Amino acid sequence: MEICNKENCTGCSACVNICPKTAISLRENEKGFLYPEIDKKKCVECGLCSKVCHINNDIQLNKVSSKYLFKNNDFSMRKSSSSGGSYMPMAQVVIKNGGTVFGAEFSDNLMVKHNYYKDLENIRKFCTSKYVQSDIGNTYKIVYELLKGHEKVLFSGSPCQVAGLKSYLSMVKCPTDDLITVDFICHGVGSPKFWNDCLGFYSKKFGSKAVSANFRGKPRPGKLQNLTISFSNGKKFQAPSANMEVFFYHFLQNCILRESCFYCKYSKTERVSDITMGDCFRAEAKFLYLQDGYGLSQLMANTEKGQEFIESIREYGDLVQVDVNNYIQPNLLNPTSKPQRYNTFWDEYLSKGFNGALRVSNYSSFKNRAKHIVLCVAYYLRLDSSIKKIARIISKH
Ligand SMILES: Cc1cc2nc3c(=O)[nH]c(=O)nc-3n(C[C@H](O)[C@H](O)[C@H](O)COP(=O)(O)OP(=O)(O)OC[C@H]3O[C@@H](n4cnc5c(N)ncnc54)[C@H](O)[C@@H]3O)c2cc1C
Repeated sequence: MEICNKENCTGCSACVNICPKTAISLRENEKGFLYPEIDKKKCVECGLCSKVCHINNDIQLNKVSSKYLFKNNDFSMRKSSSSGGSYMPMAQVVIKNGGTVFGAEFSDNLMVKHNYYKDLENIRKFCTSKYVQSDIGNTYKIVYELLKGHEKVLFSGSPCQVAGLKSYLSMVKCPTDDLITVDFICHGVGSPKFWNDCLGFYSKKFGSKAVSANFRGKPRPGKLQNLTISFSNGKKFQAPSANMEVFFYHFLQNCILRESCFYCKYSKTERVSDITMGDCFRAEAKFLYLQDGYGLSQLMANTEKGQEFIESIREYGDLVQVDVNNYIQPNLLNPTSKPQRYNTFWDEYLSKGFNGALRVSNYSSFKNRAKHIVLCVAYYLRLDSSIKKIARIISKH
């Protein structure tokens, strides 16, 4: 029995969480993404798994009622967040009210998983985007238990993870007045297997085990997507450019995204959550004063609850309202397109391994390596922004 069409399965794990016989578990496929597997000996064919699946059912989507830009006034908090540092203030409000905060963190082996905390020190682990799919585990069940006990809960995840949670809670008839859901504009989620291999690649290069990673290292103003990895021998890798670093290169070329991301039901202006977070890379002229190169968030209020909640973080930073039709990013209109070489990339990856696949994606081509060297030299000489500007002018003519 197939719970839903495999191409569309997002691995949200609502089916695992709902199964009364614990007959479903998630198994890694060859690309490292999790898919449900049914133990036929335990299954009683109750059908709850396909009923709870958000792919088989349409979850109610909300129309964005207002949009904001947000810049956290705690610089260190913003520097250690992806863009404007909007999630920590939301967590601060919930913690003040005795609630619990859910989000995605790195585990000890630097893979990504969902977890929950009641203290701000641990909640900081959720800051910054991890561009790898996070493992939800049994968090939906814990959200249910907390809501049943009338605790406030803040849950953040990709749109499909929020959809899975909402579908699960509706099936178990859980009241959701105390729940705030937050998703993000989502380009798609990266392969945990590819990420693990990248960690191996860098560990070999630096002669030591990777102990921490940050996809949004922010080494300098304007550098917002620079992967930083620290190693146990004290060395540190700082990617000089997003596009030239091996993980981000493949993420942005869409080679390592989950198959379902190409058919995403939630790449729309209507949103599944109460609040949607996103990047604002270029503010409109009247709000340029908010832009110092260390990140600015856009926040969408998709429900009345979301709107009220956004207003409650005003004391933590600059919060300005903008037109809902501005700052529309590509993934608010359409899912990311599947690249032509996606299947060839993975065939090569599985038959020839990591280095073989880098040839298919052109990462290790002569042209790309030459570009990489020029960008590295430019970064260290602090000439990279000027080179990019010149390249943009040349490409326009
Ligand atoms: C896979 C992915 C793709 C994204 N694509 C886009 C995009 O195309 N356009 C855009 O504008 N923004 C995108 N974002 C969102 C963006 O990177 C920032 O998260 C957003 O701007 C909020 O930043 P912040 O500084 O306000 O929040 P932060 O304080 O940095 O909070 C980050 C939040 O994201 C959650 N999170 C981090 N990693 C994951 C993960 N792997 N799975 C689930 N939840 C996670 C954390 O729990 C936390 O709540 C993406 C994020 C991710 C994780």
